[in-house]
Amino acid sequence: TEGAGRDFIRDIVAGDLGAGKIAEVVTRFPPEPNGYLHIGHAKSICLNFGIAQEFGGRCHLRFDDTNPAKEEQEYIDAIERDVRWLGFEWGKHLYFASDYFDRLYGWAVDLIKAGKAYVDDQTQEEMRANRGTLTEPGRNSPFRDRPVEENLDLFARMKAGEFPNGARVLRAKIDMAAGNINLRDPVLYRIIHAHHPRTGDTWKIYPSYDFAHGQSDAIEGITHSVCTLEFEDHRPLYDWFIQNLSVPSTPHQYEFARLNITYTLLSKRILNGLVKGGHVSGWDDPRMPTIAGLRRRGVPPEAIRDFIKRVGVAKANSTVDLGMFDFSIREVLNRAAPRRMAVLRPLKVVIENYPEGEGEEIEAVNHPDDETQGSRKLKFTRELYIERDDFMEVPEKKFFRMAPGREVRLRYAYFVTCKEVVKDAAGNVTELRCTYDPASKGGNSPDGRKVKATIHWVSAEHSVPAELRLYNTLFSDPDPSADPESFAKGINPQSLEVLSDARVEPALAGAKGGDAIQFERQGYFVIDRDSTPGKLVFNRTIGLRDTYAK
Ligand code: ATP
Ligand code: MG
Ligand code: MG
Repeated sequence: TEGAGRDFIRDIVAGDLGAGKIAEVVTRFPPEPNGYLHIGHAKSICLNFGIAQEFGGRCHLRFDDTNPAKEEQEYIDAIERDVRWLGFEWGKHLYFASDYFDRLYGWAVDLIKAGKAYVDDQTQEEMRANRGTLTEPGRNSPFRDRPVEENLDLFARMKAGEFPNGARVLRAKIDMAAGNINLRDPVLYRIIHAHHPRTGDTWKIYPSYDFAHGQSDAIEGITHSVCTLEFEDHRPLYDWFIQNLSVPSTPHQYEFARLNITYTLLSKRILNGLVKGGHVSGWDDPRMPTIAGLRRRGVPPEAIRDFIKRVGVAKANSTVDLGMFDFSIREVLNRAAPRRMAVLRPLKVVIENYPEGEGEEIEAVNHPDDETQGSRKLKFTRELYIERDDFMEVPEKKFFRMAPGREVRLRYAYFVTCKEVVKDAAGNVTELRCTYDPASKGGNSPDGRKVKATIHWVSAEHSVPAELRLYNTLFSDPDPSADPESFAKGINPQSLEVLSDARVEPALAGAKGGDAIQFERQGYFVIDRDSTPGKLVFNRTIGLRDTYAK
């Protein structure tokens, strides 16, 4: 495990293995299938699967499917796809909390028989009012001392579906005056009449997270049940169940800090709101922090793993700068992505002294630092496109690119000089008339003449049209409001910019989804699934430089 990046959880695992407390480490990643996974989940995935890999143990993928009102098969499928895409494999260790419903029910009956659980008829409001506060103890329910027989009868009838949603709950009888509110007679079962994706209509009652989670861990022989800090206060309850039930093993819960990132909201509830409210095109909108969205945007799984490793595992919550994630993305893409040329906002250039006709082939290297990527042939012709932004009719002080009378280098090709600016009736620049220096082929002039700028270009005739989608942060504020009523107001109006008249090298007509490309000077791009042979569509994964993180 040298170099794997030690942290306090790995230290605990190493200690338990070293002391012979456990023979093998067993972890689990336990998503609730109520939405798509986001990059916060990636932290938990990398941690749980990573520990199993590094210490020669195993990691289970367990769906925490205990609330059919919110869960769907679509989410189960998406979660499996995303965990695999991130590079992790559970093999035969795929589990569902719903597979344990019978056993969990049996344990609830055991608690009732032991006088440690009761059916409560209070309304939700009454229960809340009687729960007390951090400084005041709660009040006992008037149903708390129901006889065991009556509890057994009512619980069986809850199970049989006799009562409507919310009419009754089963609660553990622990201590309404406990300092830890989680121990004030927590709910074990609630009535939910809803179709479950796996158990159908068999069940009318469903276990709470607290009642299902630790017992599922115990059934599967989980040794280290790792979760986020919000559950720290639940640990005494986790342990209470394990101690008060005859479970087959004794798992322990450990908590780590959840991942928070600037400009980003990581909560399935909010992400679901963005999808349902039509604020994004779907769970895989490339602006979403979901694994599916990141994949569609072109972020490689290695970059996500690298980022998570850099973040590390801490015991205190904090917020990571989005620039740190971008750094990991650029690092991975820079290494692999072949270079191409694309013109985002084309401006026509006619080279007046270049011969009409076929043009010529020009050699361009595919990667400046990786010779094995070879080179390609580009068509240079009399009519070209350059970037509109690379021209200024009246150049500003530090603008060294194309301007009237100025000479610049066209990447891999020639020096060209702007001789004339053509405009339409409204005064918009529509074309530049230029000349080239035939002696500067390859990008250098034999007389040693210098130019201050090199710009990219494509052949007018031989380039192909493309739509380029540029993304910015989904939220404008580095610390966006997670208020369920108003978070949508924080959406960045510039989060998506569509350039529909772009031109790209013809070689890109054969590009496949998933292949990262660097468009020189413009950033890393990937083919979008909306792309068709007739209309190429690219997503910009990320620009070449950090533009917003200050
Ligand atoms: P959300 O609040 O987005 O719904 P959740 O915690 O309810 O997240 P689950 O499906 O229950 O979602 O999460 C599965 C696992 O992923 C849990 O162990 C949870 O602690 C972990 N997890 C969720 N969000 C983060 C995060 N931001 N950082 C680290 N781990 C996370
Ligand atoms: Mg949850
Ligand atoms: Mg949740």
